[in-house]
Amino acid sequence: MPLAKLPGFEVLPYFALMIEQQKKRIAILGSTGSIGTQALDIVREHPDELEVEVLTAHNNADLLIAQALEFAPNHVVIANESKYLQVKEALASTDVKVFAGDKSIADLMEITSADTVLTAMVGYSGLLPTIAAIKARKRIALANKETLVVAGELITSLCMENRVEMLPVDSEHSAIFQCLVGENPDAIEHIILTASGGPFRGKKRSELEQVTRAQALKHPNWSMGAKITIDSASLMNKGLEVIEAKWLFGVRNEQIKVVVHPQSIVHSMVEFTDGSIKAQLGLPDMKLPIQYAMYYPQRRQNNWPRTSFTQFNRLDFEEPDMETFRNLALAFDALEAGGNKACLLNAANEIAVQAFLEDKIGFLQIAELNEKCMQELPFVAKPVLEDYIASDKLAREKATEWIKQFAR
Ligand code: NDP
Ligand code: MG
Repeated sequence: MPLAKLPGFEVLPYFALMIEQQKKRIAILGSTGSIGTQALDIVREHPDELEVEVLTAHNNADLLIAQALEFAPNHVVIANESKYLQVKEALASTDVKVFAGDKSIADLMEITSADTVLTAMVGYSGLLPTIAAIKARKRIALANKETLVVAGELITSLCMENRVEMLPVDSEHSAIFQCLVGENPDAIEHIILTASGGPFRGKKRSELEQVTRAQALKHPNWSMGAKITIDSASLMNKGLEVIEAKWLFGVRNEQIKVVVHPQSIVHSMVEFTDGSIKAQLGLPDMKLPIQYAMYYPQRRQNNWPRTSFTQFNRLDFEEPDMETFRNLALAFDALEAGGNKACLLNAANEIAVQAFLEDKIGFLQIAELNEKCMQELPFVAKPVLEDYIASDKLAREKATEWIKQFAR
């Protein structure tokens, strides 16, 4: 059964909305990042409605401390253990309990009284904490798409088993989710993910050989963390989102389409079996889908800027160029192959993006490395958690080794 068929997905009757008055208690994993800080902006706007229970960061101890002093969570975790003392001492005069290390993030999911966990850390690091949060029956607001890319089948079945709702934060998936409210998931014909095309839209391979990190980091419409910004430039992000959509909405691979829409106003669409299409539109501002996931099934009023159709008086759509931007084709291949292929792709890509950011490989080599890892590393048809962990580790090791052979 797809997540979309879980109870709670459909519009709740009004009496259910009435009892939604208590404060929502939120754990923000990755609170120092782009999504994390925007989530805290929303909490700051509604202190009577939202309460922060947990904040976690990897390296940015200074910001984590400042956030803890402002939002007074019960628990904070700094994943980088060498920063533990700094955080502990800075919060010594408060009631905040401080932990360190990756494992603590997952462990905390069992004891926190948060009802919703916003997974806003980057990459594979989201997997184990998300699994722990699902087992602890927390509602998941999923920004960390890599969790579903790595282990979509496992995560989906864990959500079913534990009757846990997973609400998308990714803008495209939030759009689809919003289009599906009140609809029968069996009536979906296609999911149409929109892609801005990133800073290199329209460029050919020869023009991409020498592009720099600074050029790739300049996204035309969205301001995001470094990894997802590079993924957007290489269309890997859209590829990851295709896989994410499959698991969130329980559709067949051939039901997922991608269309390039450079203005990023139409956040995605659903085409139904009667030929009707619903789209969700709005300004490109991640606070919208974050707030939607935090408050679902309510829609919280706000005074953020509104979309002007006279300003955005044309909306363009074009086919994605999957020959130039190979990563998108690789994601469809991974989906078709199933098993651990998407996990291998994700791990290779994390290493490749880091190497590109460190100027060790060129832009086009990101997809080359991803393809090599997908083709050459062992395929596991029916992976369990240990297989995903082993595949991720192996792909990271091999990708790191192969990068040394990719002369710049
Ligand atoms: P950022 O790089 O801005 O932030 C990442 C956060 O995760 C930071 O708090 C960082 O801590 C923490 N973190 C990094 N590595 C680890 C680790 N190994 N263990 C624990 N925590 C870690 O990323 P974004 O906010 O841009 O993205 C977060 C997730 O949301 C990604 O999966 C991304 O794909 C997804 N997403 C993001 C969107 C956006 O607009 N930014 C849009 C849609 C989805 P520290 O700062 O201390 O290093
Ligand atoms: Mg997105």
